[in-house]
Amino acid sequence: MYTSRDLIDIHTHSTGSRHAYSTVTENIRAAQALGLPYYGLSDHAPAMPFTTGGSYFLNLIVIPREWENLTFLRGAECNILNANGDIDLEEPSLSRLDYALAAIHRNCMEPTTPEDHTNAYLKVMDNPHIKVLAHPDDGRFPYDFEAVVRKAVDRKVLLEVNECSLKPDAYRPDAKENLRGLLEVCKKYNAPVILGSDAHFHTDVGKHPLGIKFLEEMDFPEELIVNFHEELIKFFLTGNLTK
Ligand SMILES: [Zn+2]
Ligand SMILES: [Zn+2]
Repeated sequence: MYTSRDLIDIHTHSTGSRHAYSTVTENIRAAQALGLPYYGLSDHAPAMPFTTGGSYFLNLIVIPREWENLTFLRGAECNILNANGDIDLEEPSLSRLDYALAAIHRNCMEPTTPEDHTNAYLKVMDNPHIKVLAHPDDGRFPYDFEAVVRKAVDRKVLLEVNECSLKPDAYRPDAKENLRGLLEVCKKYNAPVILGSDAHFHTDVGKHPLGIKFLEEMDFPEELIVNFHEELIKFFLTGNLTK
């Protein structure tokens, strides 16, 4: 059993994503109620059908940074669009964020070959704004775990353990098997991971019970789980926060 406290959730959605149902304030209040010191908003970037536009991300700076004992982080879940690792958010929106997640979504990129999916992940990590690969467990997009984990370590990018992927009604095929395989490679290379709720309603914000259980069952090293360590959160995500 892990003994550390969970300190952060950086993968959450608000009504800005249009298929999520809580406001930013409701999400923040939910994170505060759990005692989380860090909460990150990561609405879907513009290529996701019906989500918000670039100016939404540009203007996140109007949301106060500090909420009593909680620090608000400005993020986005960017869509990887192709094997070149192109994403759907540009400057200046991107550089105003504290972090961006990069994810492959079925409605923003067609599955092609494992080589293409591998290249998509490898190349997106050349973008300095990408701090996390979100739900890298989708069986429709097989890729080379070894190559991606090695580059993630090199580029200081985190692999996500996505809470939604582990739910009984998860829609990404073979997510558990893929995650298990990926985490074995993470262990081998001492690659840190981050738990993300992928909450689309505030009651899910900050909650990672399935992810924690999954990591415990794999004997995944506690010291590689970023949520549990303030110094890792600072190193990978919050080291250079602006006002
Ligand atoms: Zn996603
Ligand atoms: Zn998401």
